[in-house]
Amino acid sequence: VPLYRDPVRFHAERRPQKIAIRDLSSGRAFSYAGLDQRVDRLAAHLRQVGLGPGDRVAVLSQNGPLVFEVQFGANRIGAVMVPLNMRLAVPELAYILADSGAALLIADAPFAETARQLASLPQLVGLRLLIADQTGGAEAYDRILAAEAERVAPYPATHDDPCMIIYTSGTTGRPKGAVITFGIMIWQYVNTTAICAVTHRTVELILLPLFHIGGLNANANNTLRAGGTILLSRVFDPAAALALLADPESGVNNVTGVPAQYQFMSYEPGFAEADFSHLDYAGIGGAPTPVPVIVQYAERNAPIFEGLGMTEAGPAIASIDVENVLRKRGSVGKPVICVDLRIVGPDGRDVPTGAVGEMWLRGPNLIRSYWNNPPGSENAFVDGWFRSGDMARLDDEGFLFIVDRLKDMYISGGENVYPAEVERVLQQVEGIREVAVFGVPHPRWGETGHAAVVLAPGSTLDEDRIIAICREALARYKLPSGVTFLEALPRNATGKIQKNVLRERFSPAEA
Ligand code: ATP
Ligand code: MG
Repeated sequence: VPLYRDPVRFHAERRPQKIAIRDLSSGRAFSYAGLDQRVDRLAAHLRQVGLGPGDRVAVLSQNGPLVFEVQFGANRIGAVMVPLNMRLAVPELAYILADSGAALLIADAPFAETARQLASLPQLVGLRLLIADQTGGAEAYDRILAAEAERVAPYPATHDDPCMIIYTSGTTGRPKGAVITFGIMIWQYVNTTAICAVTHRTVELILLPLFHIGGLNANANNTLRAGGTILLSRVFDPAAALALLADPESGVNNVTGVPAQYQFMSYEPGFAEADFSHLDYAGIGGAPTPVPVIVQYAERNAPIFEGLGMTEAGPAIASIDVENVLRKRGSVGKPVICVDLRIVGPDGRDVPTGAVGEMWLRGPNLIRSYWNNPPGSENAFVDGWFRSGDMARLDDEGFLFIVDRLKDMYISGGENVYPAEVERVLQQVEGIREVAVFGVPHPRWGETGHAAVVLAPGSTLDEDRIIAICREALARYKLPSGVTFLEALPRNATGKIQKNVLRERFSPAEA
């Protein structure tokens, strides 16, 4: 099993003065040599407090250099980073800390109080704390990094050693810990670089959160591996992001965002005159992407690529460029270079081309198991394949379309219904701001659909009208039998709609 080299040390030895990280929030810049020294000092400290290979070190922070210091610092002694979603509530964070068995939590100053609260919980006795201050304040962490320390020889990691445990978004249940190995990091780099070469000339504006795998690995870690530069900022500011992307002099040539971030930037006054032709790559994805958003950016010469990703896949699975996305509306493209993909029916056999089935994945970038979760792992990993839980189809040219999540599909009178299809109809109705459709038990049909709708202000739509609109576009068995109007849809900390919460709330009593 080949050896893995730490990219920070690697580039520090070749281009020491090259900027690795520009922190737009504090104005600080970190060269590869400077970052290497900080990583070294943190690694020395981790070793000093008794941590070693395989131990878990969690980090709670907004986007900032701290995340990479913890990642490379932990990895330098063979320890494993666990990035925490800072939007989670204390009990949710406690679950992840306990599940991962983290020995140490490193938190940035704004989360110091949360971190102390966590450390005082009975289920987290023994959790050590280290408080940082990324603005350059003098918290304990910064004193450690300011002190002289001996250089640490990087742990001789192999491709099978874990380097991070990243928890899934928790859209369909409790977040699951995906064990990311050093090898997966390399394959992720190969998968991404085959779509758009990431090089030492890459200057990447990071818009995605670093506690999810997309921002962390598909974006930031790939660019650092290539010896490029990443730009970080604590919060997403659409005006500032647009200004950087639209200005050829800013040097930024690579970016990725979720659809909502692209939408927010398009509302800014500067958008109408913007031209993005100097960019190498403008990635979009992580959630279903409305085609009008892609069209808007394509008209301004942005080299848009939509991507399908998943925590368990490291994350890249499929990608589509702008020409194809305009031709194959709604497709997420074709598998990336190291991913093998099947569309499988309930009998475990491939469905015919064009039919819907569960997407199964195989490749060196896929995790081998979940952390601390034998039943979940046993269920998801079958004969070398990972059952993704996403329902999808392939067209006759091999383009992939995500239909819905398997867990969200329901069966009404023996017919499979994909709520996303019903939602797409209702999303286009004027007066409907947001909608979620889900299955609830039904005495006659087994299950039936129910729609939760958030109306636009002033809208006079009622239940009968909404069902009538569906009737014009959809087969009878797909029609929701009931509509409930809500002020807001329940969403998880990533902003994804929690259908399990809706299902529980509206069944069986109200079904
Ligand atoms: P959990 O597994 O805990 O329920 P999750 O699946 O939402 O949560 P992630 O790994 O963050 O956690 O998200 C991956 C999922 O996001 C995919 O399985 C897919 O359903 C969805 N997704 C990602 N990119 C796209 C895209 N471009 N189009 C449609 N769906 C996407
Ligand atoms: Mg998932």
